Amino acid sequence: MKIKCEDIGDSGLTSSFLKDVDWLNELISDLKTKDFSFSKPMNLTLTATRSGGNIFIRGKIKTTVILSCARCLESFEYPVNTDMNLTFVPASERPLQVEDTPAELEFYEGDTIDLSKDMRDQILLAIPLKPLCKDSCKGLCPQCGVNLNMESCNCHRVTFHSKFEILRGLVK
Ligand SMILES: [Zn+2]
Ligand SMILES: [Zn+2]
Repeated sequence: MKIKCEDIGDSGLTSSFLKDVDWLNELISDLKTKDFSFSKPMNLTLTATRSGGNIFIRGKIKTTVILSCARCLESFEYPVNTDMNLTFVPASERPLQVEDTPAELEFYEGDTIDLSKDMRDQILLAIPLKPLCKDSCKGLCPQCGVNLNMESCNCHRVTFHSKFEILRGLVK
């Protein structure tokens, strides 16, 4: 997913990329904590403008990932719609000290910008840390482990009742 700097004219460059599921899953295959996968192709539309050697990218990312719910552990599809705003500076202008480097700057070498990694990072940021299949997800029963969205169990009622009985016993 590359942009050639020479293609960015005075009025900028508008471009779009469509990446299939296999390509996307390959892109995240080296992530250490990979707890999602792609289920739909990704569409990226962007405009690139330049000022001297600096290149500004504004893009919109659209895709769908499969996450597992933090409460009930079921897989579910999660639509990702996120923006990408990047500023690329020629690598020759990179400060010598890493700590002097502004975090929001990206660097490019030669006349090509590769957006794959930045796009991946942007998608990672758009994925919730504790994904829920739905806000009202009831999760798993901590005692018998059934998925309380699909079936009910008697564990809670039994516990509640016995506590209630004990309390009633105390009051008497
Ligand atoms: Zn759930
Ligand atoms: Zn239960």
